Amino acid sequence: MRAGRILVLALAASLLLAAPAAARESRPFDGSAAAPPAHASFKLAEWRWRTGRIPYFNAARKSGKAVKQAVKAWNTSGARVKFVRASRSRAKLVIRYHATRRCLGFAYAQPYYDQSRRVARAEVVIPRPRASNPFCSHWGQVLVIAHELGHVLGLDHESRRCATMNPATSGLKPSECPEQAEWQWRCRLLEADDVRGAVRIYGGKVKRRPKPLCDLAGPPAPVTGLTAAVNPDVFMGIDVSFTRPEQPKAPPFVSSASQETYDAAVAPGACPPESPYGASWTVPVGGVQTTRLFGAGPGPHCVAVRARDAFRRASAPATVTVVIPAP
Ligand SMILES: [Zn+2]
Repeated sequence: MRAGRILVLALAASLLLAAPAAARESRPFDGSAAAPPAHASFKLAEWRWRTGRIPYFNAARKSGKAVKQAVKAWNTSGARVKFVRASRSRAKLVIRYHATRRCLGFAYAQPYYDQSRRVARAEVVIPRPRASNPFCSHWGQVLVIAHELGHVLGLDHESRRCATMNPATSGLKPSECPEQAEWQWRCRLLEADDVRGAVRIYGGKVKRRPKPLCDLAGPPAPVTGLTAAVNPDVFMGIDVSFTRPEQPKAPPFVSSASQETYDAAVAPGACPPESPYGASWTVPVGGVQTTRLFGAGPGPHCVAVRARDAFRRASAPATVTVVIPAP
């Protein structure tokens, strides 16, 4: 038995943080690998398992949830493969951390196989979790484990289209997948191309792929307790008050996260749409914010208030109607 070629899935996390966003997208996993040959779809490595049923043991205990998600993605992909939990002694695949405690910016899969190219056992080595780094964050780990399990199954890198087997990642999506909003990650985990590769080796049928994107943080919370009253001492003045909600936190690696704001607007008749402007809160979370708006003339007006989270996403509007009396 000899050691299989080590497929290093590398990217320097420390460099990553310092690199500008554009460079971040194109940083390769495999630093020293020569340019891959042109191919229009999945590429197979030179080994395979005798069956697609692979008993595994996860020694990367703090990443148990990420391992489960990545395993589930493969087990439900439609390819005839099944990663099944086993004791360490019975496992053919062991998933573990790098020896160092730091967030190392690379992972790798190492199969051990014989002359017949049949894998006897394999190892996946991943970085330790670190919330402040996209590659080592929970989301980055799920994607990198799904990628490494692809290598374990016998897939090589695919660099011509969006695939989890792309050779590079931003931490939140494989490099060739379409750009996404800064509050999203590519939670689909396996693209059709990846599953087609596994189906080619182990049989099965590519199942319909789940939705591609999920949010990193829950939707923005709306304001509560909205009141609006005509101020008889101010021409067309409407005094508005509402309570500042607590917003879901942006992950610590999101450098573009900004101040939370609110957007209060009034319109005669129908409620005003979302405006591109936001006002700064002058009260802490849970405090009652007041502001003054101005009507356009006598008659009913709709006041709409939206809270914006650190990603500048607007919440659902809170609305209330006020009637400005004729002079
Ligand atoms: Zn790789």
